[in-house]
Amino acid sequence: MINYTEHVRQLMSDIVLRVPRLSFLDMNRILVFARSGRADREGPYATCHCVCLPASDPGYYFWRDQTTGALTRRSEWFVTKSPVVRVGSNQIDYMVSFTLPRFCDQRRISASKRARYAGLPHWMAKLDTIIHELYHIDPHQPGIRRIERADGTPSTKCHSPAFFKDVVDMVTQYLTSGPDPQILEFLRYDFAGLTARYGGVAATTFKASSYPRRYIEVLKPQPEAQSPDCPVEPLELPRVTTHFSEKDLVTRRFWADRAVARKGKVRAA
Ligand SMILES: [Zn+2]
Repeated sequence: MINYTEHVRQLMSDIVLRVPRLSFLDMNRILVFARSGRADREGPYATCHCVCLPASDPGYYFWRDQTTGALTRRSEWFVTKSPVVRVGSNQIDYMVSFTLPRFCDQRRISASKRARYAGLPHWMAKLDTIIHELYHIDPHQPGIRRIERADGTPSTKCHSPAFFKDVVDMVTQYLTSGPDPQILEFLRYDFAGLTARYGGVAATTFKASSYPRRYIEVLKPQPEAQSPDCPVEPLELPRVTTHFSEKDLVTRRFWADRAVARKGKVRAA
């Protein structure tokens, strides 16, 4: 059985050695994991998650009187924090998740992406996604790379035409650097092809269905006493895991879409 995330990780390690613009990345601080997602549904193929942002400034939610504008109610003060993720002795700063089997099948490749790789094999779209996610990591500060507008001011978006073009340039640079074709081999197959060739697809994933995400923590003690004109609403927060380690990870098999599997079964009968 192929370990898909391990193959992606090997490929990423080779990419950061061969593509100078990504050489600042330390693969020991990047965790690659898989999530389940059907190929025929909308959703991302892959996502870059930052788990090294510092805690936010303290704040609260509030309600105002529409006429007077006066504060009528507020929540408790809180901060938003990143979870702590450690694998062995490595502190993880970023995680890249791949949705299986959706990523392997890439049935909804956009017209613009197809145009970027016109005349080249279809698996180029997967290499583009892998480099795209690594390029989201900001080289200068913790967080997702900031995009600048044409006038040099920061934009709220995390993609721009220049971002997509840079990714194509890096894909080309990687392929022309003479990588071992064996490292890229697994990208050539869709999910059914991988299953036929390797007898199944396994990947590293989080044991519980949830993975590390930023979370809200109520400040203790509260920095401000309650005032009689503005009652304080307690925040009802779900219980979340705030610290993760290799004990929360598991390697398990991923399966083809159930609809496809059912169709196969009917045919077999
Ligand atoms: Zn993106």
